[in-house]
Amino acid sequence: VTFADLGLSDPILQAVAEAGYVHPTPIQEQAIPVVLMGRDVLGCAQTGTGKTAGFTLPMLDILAGSRAKARMPRSLILEPTRELALQVAENFVKYGKHLTLTHALLIGGESMDEQKAVLEKGVDVLIATPGRLLDLFDRGRILLADCKVLVIDEADRMLDMGFIPDVERIVSMLPKLRQTLFFSATMAPEIRRLADAFLQNPREITV
Ligand code: AMP
Repeated sequence: VTFADLGLSDPILQAVAEAGYVHPTPIQEQAIPVVLMGRDVLGCAQTGTGKTAGFTLPMLDILAGSRAKARMPRSLILEPTRELALQVAENFVKYGKHLTLTHALLIGGESMDEQKAVLEKGVDVLIATPGRLLDLFDRGRILLADCKVLVIDEADRMLDMGFIPDVERIVSMLPKLRQTLFFSATMAPEIRRLADAFLQNPREITV
């Protein structure tokens, strides 16, 4: 199987080739066509399996072709730590180099003024930790009505770090009609309960 077999568009295939990837990993092979179809995904996968490209590549494809309005991001990737958010942002830039999509990295320890300015211009993808996202939301800097693709990454770590109430509050503010991709390394009962609450008829993928 090659990336071209999975249905990704040319600008993304080109970026993937330039990254030196030849074959998709198992999670990529299974997740990418399902995400491109518009379905929700419940992915049981650890870091190192290639899951970041598994959700980033098809998201870029879905978002390509239109643009965000001021303060109205079109997608949201939630990460438990600033390090993970930074890594995802790097991946987003690498895989999206032949597209014109924009992103904002909303993490603690970075200038809030800069984040506000970027949001004001309009961003296609928010990559955020829950606390900083809620902070900017509560200051009226983000409207989530156009945010129709949601990724919750490393849900088990969100749970360990006590972020689930924040995540639930964020999800409650998103449109009901959306696509949700939910990843966790383990599927403890509390994680299952969240997945049931956030996902609609998901395809379950375990690697
Ligand atoms: P992740 O599990 O998303 O953190 O990815 C782990 C590492 O694998 C990252 O450094 C990626 O750049 C790399 N990677 C992801 N997909 C592929 C692929 N299909 N072929 C080779 N390397 C990959």
